[in-house]
Amino acid sequence: MTTVGSKAIVLFSGGQDSAVCLAWALENFSAVETVGFDYRQRHRIELDCRIAFRDALTARFPVWGERLGPDHKLDAAVLSSLGETAMTHDTAIRMSKEGLPNTFVPGRNLLFLTLAGALAYRRDADVLVGGMCETDFSGYPDCRRDTLDAQEAALVLGMDRPLKIATPLMTLDKAQTWAMAHELGGSVLIDLIVEETHTCYLGDRSRRHDWGYGCGECPACELRARGWARWREQVTA
Ligand code: ZN
Repeated sequence: MTTVGSKAIVLFSGGQDSAVCLAWALENFSAVETVGFDYRQRHRIELDCRIAFRDALTARFPVWGERLGPDHKLDAAVLSSLGETAMTHDTAIRMSKEGLPNTFVPGRNLLFLTLAGALAYRRDADVLVGGMCETDFSGYPDCRRDTLDAQEAALVLGMDRPLKIATPLMTLDKAQTWAMAHELGGSVLIDLIVEETHTCYLGDRSRRHDWGYGCGECPACELRARGWARWREQVTA
């Protein structure tokens, strides 16, 4: 990854994956800014986690802190007006007839990347960093690298500027994502991710597990817990 002269904008939701992406970007780029989207998600608590995580990262990793620029929060509430999904409305999480969980918000990543691309234009950034992942994911078609390649090409053409969409987690499973976090920032970063990030779809922060806060039962919690368990097994084996 080239670093000098590059400015990256990290799509930072406040969840585990985007937190690792933020650390990765701070290690690899000389200037980094963050963007978050309010789309009236049920787990809005993750938006509160964003600032706490940024602050903790700056305090514990001063070199990264010097590279970390402003945070941007954009309103993407139009997504919740398009129709009900389990991410934006209080409905049970289940599989649809298309084989996708109803946590899938159609067009969400496409919209986020378009908004982040416009922000990159304004902020003179040439890289977007996102935590999309093809391996452990729930089958979301907008997390596939093919989709992102097409959108990268559309953004470059539509804004007539060079722009890359970097996806450092694309081929990693959740255990490898924990391992990557450990490589980047050791146990200090692991502790920050456990304590300050949020993954649970239901927004539950009343229960604390080894791997962080959450209901422990929703698909997001299950994935995070399984990845943590596998990583711990590998570390202690
Ligand atoms: Zn949960």
